[in-house]
Amino acid sequence: NKTNQGWNLENSYQRLPDLFYTSLQPEEVGQPELAIFNEKLAAELGLNSSHLKNDSETFSGNHLPEGSKPIAQAYAGHQFANFNMLGDGRAVLIGEQVTPEGKRFDIQLKGSGKTPYSRRGDGKAALGPMLREYLISEAMHGLRIPTSRSLAVAETGEEIQREISLPGAVLTRVAASHIRVGTFQYARNWGSKDDLQALADYTIARHYPELEKEEDRYLLFLYKVAEKQAVLIADWQLKGFIHGVMNTDNVAISGETIDYGPCAFLDQYDPKTFFSSIDHQGRYAYGNQPGIGAWNMARFAETLLILIDEDEKQAIPKAKEAVEAYVKSVEGYWLDGMRLKLGIIDKSEDDKILVKTLLDLMEKYYADYTNTFRSLTLKQLDSEPGLFQSTAFKEWYQSWQDKLQNQSAPIEEAYQLMKQHNPSVIPRNYLVEEALTAAVEEGDYKPFHALLAVLENPYAYTKEQGKYAVKPPNEDYQTFCGT
Ligand code: AMP
Ligand code: MG
Ligand code: MG
Repeated sequence: NKTNQGWNLENSYQRLPDLFYTSLQPEEVGQPELAIFNEKLAAELGLNSSHLKNDSETFSGNHLPEGSKPIAQAYAGHQFANFNMLGDGRAVLIGEQVTPEGKRFDIQLKGSGKTPYSRRGDGKAALGPMLREYLISEAMHGLRIPTSRSLAVAETGEEIQREISLPGAVLTRVAASHIRVGTFQYARNWGSKDDLQALADYTIARHYPELEKEEDRYLLFLYKVAEKQAVLIADWQLKGFIHGVMNTDNVAISGETIDYGPCAFLDQYDPKTFFSSIDHQGRYAYGNQPGIGAWNMARFAETLLILIDEDEKQAIPKAKEAVEAYVKSVEGYWLDGMRLKLGIIDKSEDDKILVKTLLDLMEKYYADYTNTFRSLTLKQLDSEPGLFQSTAFKEWYQSWQDKLQNQSAPIEEAYQLMKQHNPSVIPRNYLVEEALTAAVEEGDYKPFHALLAVLENPYAYTKEQGKYAVKPPNEDYQTFCGT
């Protein structure tokens, strides 16, 4: 019964000029079956799980809910620094769910078939990568990193052709919106000034309503978006997350992590780490992410110049300042986050040296990033023998302990803080692969559900989590996008 499902869909994006989207229906699929459904997220959205958790028709796109007016969104983007026209090539926005609290979320079906923006792609997605996005985005949420969420994965019952034949699937993705830096680039390059302004006003109203009445709102908007990116990317660095494809079309204006293609978590600490098979130069390596964020904000700033000042030249120095503010912020948020990871409550100038010294030692001794902080938190210095037994580390440890002993707060508080900011578990690549292989190849979802349950509470420090904190086997890991 559709009316009991809790859908409350609006389609406000369609008040924008026509060039921003194309109306279309998802492609019908043969034999949809729900692989997984997120009951907790459904509840947050005001949806009724008992009426939806077997509804493969909805989550495959075969039968859309009441109020849905599906569209594919247009956008452009710099992909590895090359500017292209893109758009939703395999996704359809079915509507915006307005929750009982009045919050608005895009509901998008990913892998639902061709759109006018598909170019040479088939518009489809494979089960493995969609389950992977589900798992990692929910893990990111558990880590308290802003992110799109995953409501469901439906198998389509159809095979899709990649290098080999793979089971097809549709992911239901939930995000504050899917407006990207690339959406603004599209407006600036393919639209009029009025189109661009319509998009900016819409986005401000949706994500930064406090700016609506400000005279300088477009410049302030740039500052706010840059600030959100600084918070986000600092958080990625702190948790060891490598996005893998930080193209401008994958940068959400809301400040959420979007597009889980080739992402992966750092094991051994090395800023040069990257996993993506298509990132030949390591452009999007772990240590480059804050700088790439600045590059992306500069591209965003360029789209807004004409709104910031009718004379674009006059706007350039103002926009530059905003990007410089990002650079300072991302460093500041990162250092503050590192202080929390080390239980530092009384800030001082030399904290940065303390942090850098530790990181340099971790790199030198091939220490695991997550497990080093986990061990410090648990006061069990056994996980990284090379690092922990070195003289240099012992010296570092002593100066750190001196610092913690001499703080204004008792040392127990420092350790409490560390527990809240150093995850005990992360979605380690080999664990993710094991869970996906069981699910996709054997139809056994038990490992997937077990891993998901642990990743929902990464700061819980339960005994059970110890099993998942084991260092990976020696691996040469690669990730892929576009499957
Ligand atoms: P991504 O690398 O995931 O950010 O995707 C870049 C662009 O390629 C976006 O416009 C996607 O919609 C599009 N795309 C990715 N995979 C496919 C596919 N299988 N079919 C059509 N378009 C795709
Ligand atoms: Mg993308
Ligand atoms: Mg993608």
